Amino acid sequence: MPAIMKTKPAYGAELVEVDVPKPGPGEVLIKVLATSICGTDLHIYEWNEWAQSRIKTPQIMGHEVAGEVIEVGPGVDTLEVGDYISAETHIVCGKCYACRHNRYHVCQNTKIFGVDMDGVFAEYAIVPAQNAWKNPKDMPPEYAALQEPLGNAVDTVLAGPIAGMSTLITGAGPLGLLGIAVAKASGAYPIIVSEPSEFRRELAKKVGADYVINPFEEDPVKAVMDITDGAGVEVFLEFSGAPKALEQGLAATTPGGRVSLLGLFPRDVTVDFNNLIIFKALEIHGITGRHLWETWYTVSSLIQSGKLNLDPVITHKYKGFEKFEEAFELMKAGKTGKVVFFPHK
Ligand code: NAD
Ligand code: ZN
Repeated sequence: MPAIMKTKPAYGAELVEVDVPKPGPGEVLIKVLATSICGTDLHIYEWNEWAQSRIKTPQIMGHEVAGEVIEVGPGVDTLEVGDYISAETHIVCGKCYACRHNRYHVCQNTKIFGVDMDGVFAEYAIVPAQNAWKNPKDMPPEYAALQEPLGNAVDTVLAGPIAGMSTLITGAGPLGLLGIAVAKASGAYPIIVSEPSEFRRELAKKVGADYVINPFEEDPVKAVMDITDGAGVEVFLEFSGAPKALEQGLAATTPGGRVSLLGLFPRDVTVDFNNLIIFKALEIHGITGRHLWETWYTVSSLIQSGKLNLDPVITHKYKGFEKFEEAFELMKAGKTGKVVFFPHK
């Protein structure tokens, strides 16, 4: 079967032929119906410092997936052939201090498929049964595959109340766009998005932003104050990983407001804690991964409600993997929302 493989420790990847794997104890084999590219896959493709320190080659890439179970390994009693599943990509240990406090999303021994083992950019892939999430049969595979990154967005947006609340989202990359969709479906208003790329500002509007700001051309803090009659936003959601966006977002948040930080900063950041956080009594949440499994229930229900506007977020669909290099390069250039592959043409 064809698979996108990181064959050597260098820039790029290769489309190779490999054998269909056999599910071991506790595993299932799925026919991959849809699989999407995550920023992490791009880091592995580009072979950045993090990837160099973590990834062992050769390895099949990819982790966001929807597929049909076609073979069940020994000892699996929770799934059967024909089940339509997505997968939580964090394989948690269940034994560490965090896990034993039901904080699986911060398990200190987390392994990730497509990072620490073979992934899902292939026609068939192995999923540990404990990581499978059963989907309703009528959920489109491209939505089902997006549930994993949607989980990050849901944990960011719904870390507190948001209905009827003014909201600033900084960064409208693939995750920020999913965040906009979740905020819109959850009744946030107005949704103000700060994003330097014109292409992504246009996408943000299509997904549900009420106002868009180019932070390189106008001051987002002033723009937010104008829109909110000087109050500032109730909710600030950071999806960019840009230190400047963090500072601007904190300044634009109303005293007593709520902040969720998902974007990962490239270096240590300096912030005026006294004036921007402490004296404003802000409620700040660091966000990592998704809550297991509460977030999956929320994501699945949001999709089934029909209120999540996902179609504008999915900007590129590919049948087969032949054009994977084009897909990665477009994503690298910031010219995409989510990119989805359908391996079986
Ligand atoms: P991305 O790089 O595609 O998107 C970031 C967006 O921010 C881009 O569109 C960029 O133009 C925009 N941006 C840059 N400078 C800005 C500024 N000053 N103000 C506003 N916007 C600005 O990344 P993504 O895939 O959408 O992921 C978003 C962030 O989330 C990344 O930092 C990623 O590393 C992080 N992440 C965190 C987790 C987690 O669990 N915490 C998981 C996955 C990804
Ligand atoms: Zn653990």
